[in-house]
Formats: sequence, structure tokens, C-alpha cells
Amino acid sequence: METPVFMPVGTQGTVKGMLPEALKEIGAQIVLANTYHLFLRPGHELVRKLGGLHRFMHWDRPILTDSGGFQVFSLGDLRRIDEDGVRFQSHLDGASHVLTPESSMAVQEALGSDIVMAFDECIPYPASREYVAASTDRSTRWARRCKEALRPQTGAALFGIVQGGMFADLRARSAEDLLRIGFDGYAVGGLSVGEDASLMYEMMDFTLPLLPADRPRYVMGVGTPENLIEGVSRGVDMFDCVMPTRNARNGVLFTTFGKISIKQARYGDDPQPIDPDCGCYVCRNYSRAYLRHLYMSREILASVLNTHHNLHYYLNLMGEIRTALEQGTFAACKKEFFRKRESAVGA
Ligand SMILES: [Zn+2]
Repeated sequence: METPVFMPVGTQGTVKGMLPEALKEIGAQIVLANTYHLFLRPGHELVRKLGGLHRFMHWDRPILTDSGGFQVFSLGDLRRIDEDGVRFQSHLDGASHVLTPESSMAVQEALGSDIVMAFDECIPYPASREYVAASTDRSTRWARRCKEALRPQTGAALFGIVQGGMFADLRARSAEDLLRIGFDGYAVGGLSVGEDASLMYEMMDFTLPLLPADRPRYVMGVGTPENLIEGVSRGVDMFDCVMPTRNARNGVLFTTFGKISIKQARYGDDPQPIDPDCGCYVCRNYSRAYLRHLYMSREILASVLNTHHNLHYYLNLMGEIRTALEQGTFAACKKEFFRKRESAVGA
């Protein structure tokens, strides 16, 4: 795949509302699937039996799977952590399960993932230094166990995840420890968890230079279009976020001049496309008035069309960024990106 890349999120083995053919048509090179959800339902062994996740979801390009850690740790009272792993209750039926570094690797292997993420704790924000230090060191010990557990014959790449919360020295320690273990790529986790954008950028500025430039650098769960362009400026190669798909289902659409909410009454008789600068299938064929009508009528097609446009916007933006990097015009591309938003003509 070409980087920098944005990875659409397909939590349940589907990017909600998108046919795989449509995803390819708008330039998706890789999708992200979710270990926790697929482990609970329909179960990784079933997916393996049916030929692996690529075949199951009819997607023949790369798949990155998260480790399940993020969801398990988000369960709050429903989970208990110890050195071995996390015991938790399913949000579906309350059944008790355990995820460990070893079982997370086994689940991701069974799914047939191309990029496997180490099992770690995504540390909430804010958190005390004491908590962050203990959690980060445990995640490092878990990362080593992941590396030992993932069988090389699967051919999958394994990424380590830098934690350390908002403490620069703990980020540095995490990065050094992971580099010593050695991974195919490195992610920066625990960002975009409620901190200010300035603090997030500060952590990126500090952490990214510690990671080898000849390996992919992935900032997890980020972010807005502004975050993507700022992230690329700082050396990020890979991004994922539910924002374009989730916002689409809530009627929030991304454009070159910023976000719009299609619910607003002012779009009721607006014959324009969502974004006059967008060449996607939706903008070529449908008005804001029609999209507002679908949304207000709670039609399924509202989610389909809104998702198509939003993902096209994200993937097209990444394509423009790649072209600008190749041509040595990234600084101008970034300037133009912000200029259009500030002028906000279409809004
Ligand atoms: Zn469009």
C-alpha cells in the first residue's frame, strides 16, 4: 500500500454502509477490523473455518486488526486486569472471557490479519503518572509476549504500540523498550482520548522522531482532516478513525471548506452537491436537498451516500497529500487546505 494512508474502520468485518467494490473504487487500500467484536461474534474460529476474514467479508486487499485491548479496557467495571491479561464480560451477553497477549495473537491469526497489533492498554486521559508508568511497562511486557506468540509462518506484520500517556519521558521509555524488542512497524497509541489538540501534537512531535523512519509509523484512532494533514507534517504514515463513517450516519459531512450538518433546514431546497469541489459519485449525482430529505426520512440510503462521500473525502485528501509529497509541494498543499477552510465559501 502507498503511504501516508487512511484506513477505513470495519469494526464488525464491514465498513458500515459500503460495498467492498465501492471502497475499492474510492481508493481504499486497507481496512481495519476489530478483534474484540469478531472474537465475541461470530467468533474467530468460525471466521477461520469459512476461509478467513478476507474471504468472509469479500475483501482482497490488506486488513489490519486491532488487538482488542482498546475495547476490553473501555468496558470499565466489566473487566479485571492482571499481569496475565484481561478478564472481561461480553457487552453482548455478559459471558466471561479472557484476552491475553497470546490469545489476542491467536485470534488475529485466525482472522487472517495482514497487520497484527500488539495487545496493550490504551491509557485513559487524564491518568496519574504512577498509573501511566505501571500500565506502560506492563504493555511493554505484553508486547514482548506478543512477539514470541505470533507465528512467523502466518506472514503477518506485527506492530508495537508506544504508550506513556501525556508524559514525554514515559513515551521515550516505551519507544526505546519496543525498539529493543523489534517490530515491523510502530504505532503511537493513547492519543485522541480527550486531550487538547495542542497536547496531542506535542506528544506526536516528541514521539515520532524516536521511531525508525524506515518502518511505518501509525497514529491510532486519529482523526479529523486537520489531524491528518498535521500528522503527515510530523511523519505519520498510517491513520484510522471512525469519524468519516460514524459522522456520516449522523448527517455530518466533510468538505474542503469544513464540516456541514445535512440536517440543517437551510439545505432543504439547496440544489448544490455536498461539496462542489468533490468528484465522488454522491456529489456528481445528488443535491444537498435530496440528502437532507433522505436523512430526515431515516432512509438507509442516507447512511450509504453520506458514508460514500465522507470516505471519498478522506481517501482523496490522503491521495492529494501523497501526490504533493512526491512532487515536493506538501507545504503548499497544507497551506491551501487551511486557506479553503478559513474562506468557508460553500458553507
Ligand atoms: Zn462527494
